[in-house]
Amino acid sequence: MAAYKHLFFDLDHTLWDFERNSNETLANLYETYRLQQWGNFSVADFLNAFSEVNRQLWDLYNHDKIDRQTLRAQRFIRIWERLGAAGTPPPQLGEDYLAICPTKPHLLPHARETLDYLAARYRLHIITNGFDDIQQTKIRSADIAHYFEVLVTSQNSGHKKPHRAIFDYALAQTGAGTHNSAMIGDNLETDIGGAKVLGLDTIFYNPERIAHETEVTLEIHCLSELQRHL
Ligand SMILES: [Mg+2]
Repeated sequence: MAAYKHLFFDLDHTLWDFERNSNETLANLYETYRLQQWGNFSVADFLNAFSEVNRQLWDLYNHDKIDRQTLRAQRFIRIWERLGAAGTPPPQLGEDYLAICPTKPHLLPHARETLDYLAARYRLHIITNGFDDIQQTKIRSADIAHYFEVLVTSQNSGHKKPHRAIFDYALAQTGAGTHNSAMIGDNLETDIGGAKVLGLDTIFYNPERIAHETEVTLEIHCLSELQRHL
């Protein structure tokens, strides 16, 4: 591995524990709105439906098939369909989800100690396909803003991973070069695929140990492994 100066991190599912933060939010909302009134579905059914629908919608968003508004407007309507729930979701549900979820603080295991270690040795930045306001709130809520110099989003760069333009923008913003930088993320297509187009080194965070055939510079299953390798 090269002598790095800059490390670019993905945010959701790489540092910020999206699953845990989102599930906690959804469980709160299930209680608050007493969602069982809309049909015979449990909290677990609600969480599963959200997870599937959200993944599909983000996939469409990442491929420029839908925009932010559509993603937000469609999310709970599609969840209702999937659950076979009665009527339409409470109108405030989507807004409450967006307001509450980014305020949750949970990071993935060993994220903080690893960032402590890395921040003393490298310049750290974030490249995320999320939206400015939401991602900033997450970073503040998790108390990790001080680790990062530059936050590149699909909104402020005008492009989404895996498009090379967002990585070019990130390099320009940070003064980083392809020879002294690595991209760390959980998504083989957006994070790893995108970074490889520019010839950046890639570190694949694969906590679920999914099988794949993509060539990566380094693969880790726990963030703490970065302290051994970097
Ligand atoms: Mg991610």
